[in-house]
Amino acid sequence: MTRIKFFNTREEEKAVALAWAERNNITLDLTDKELSLATLDEVKGYDGVSLTQIAPVEPELYPQLKALGIKQLSQRSAGVDMYDLELARQNDITVTNVPSYSPESIGEFTALIGLNLVRHYDRIKAHVQEHNFAWTPDLRGRVVGEMTVAVIGTGRIGQSLARIFKGFGAKIVGYDVYPNPNLGDLLEYKATIEEAVAEADIVSIHMPATEETHHMFNADLFSHFKKGAILLNMARGAVLDTQDLLDALDNGTLAGAGIDTYEFEGPYVPKNNKGVVIEDDQFLALINHPNVIYTPHVAFYTDEAVKNLVETSLNAALDVIQKGSTQFSVN
Ligand code: NAD
Repeated sequence: MTRIKFFNTREEEKAVALAWAERNNITLDLTDKELSLATLDEVKGYDGVSLTQIAPVEPELYPQLKALGIKQLSQRSAGVDMYDLELARQNDITVTNVPSYSPESIGEFTALIGLNLVRHYDRIKAHVQEHNFAWTPDLRGRVVGEMTVAVIGTGRIGQSLARIFKGFGAKIVGYDVYPNPNLGDLLEYKATIEEAVAEADIVSIHMPATEETHHMFNADLFSHFKKGAILLNMARGAVLDTQDLLDALDNGTLAGAGIDTYEFEGPYVPKNNKGVVIEDDQFLALINHPNVIYTPHVAFYTDEAVKNLVETSLNAALDVIQKGSTQFSVN
């Protein structure tokens, strides 16, 4: 019987993974360990590997995996920057990812945080906890249906968010390096990012972190924003210069920001840091800013996303083991 080792197991993945194994008649062994040279023995006797690697894979690992007869590494996320794809290929190892596991999860979460900021829900809740039920001006919101929303990156997640806010009656403008000709009914493309943000009350970022997009949202771009706009970043922290964001919030350019991904989140997310001293002052300034809603990279985190990540990863592993290839290969 085919045997697959499932590394980095999280509690919520167990039932889905074991049900998949039973349906497919596969022996699946779960461990919460991470694959590394130190845990290589865990792979002995297995045909395949599914994992959620976070740290970069040690280069020496690839030939050792090859020597053990491993032909694939199935990553349970979209990002594969922790792998040396060329080195994996040289060792006949197919690396696979899960490019899209639930764009609606992220789209809906982005809308949730956007609405929270527009209607000051966190402030209302804080007032209520102090038994202050007064209608103070700081609680007065706006109607999203009267707003313009700029979607920067009109791929799967950007489209999901655009559909939600369109449903509220908002005008949607978009910017993308590759405009999608099929989205004419959903949004109006602007030729430049500056034009897109200039008329937007809410700007939502849904493009990948690349060399080109690194710190694309900086003081210069904020100077093109409509005063009092709301910025949502549920994509990747590195697309944003966090200090420039804090300055834009402090000087009134931005009224609020919803941030799910912070550029230097690595040491702290996803972990319980209660009692841990956070040594990153910029991160602390972001978390504690009164006009920021910070969430720890949870936009994707739903039952549906977990199921899709686990099942797609295991299907990709099985494809490679049984057929030698898969549509989810990234190398
Ligand atoms: P996608 O590939 O479907 O869409 C991304 C879009 O960005 C594409 O249309 C692409 O052309 C566009 N783009 C690329 N470079 C650009 C640039 N320089 N300027 C403007 N547009 C550009 O991807 P997706 O599935 O919609 O994911 C979008 C982002 O969401 C990814 O960066 C991903 O890392 C992030 N994400 C976050 C979470 C979370 O939990 N917070 C979960 C999954 C994905």
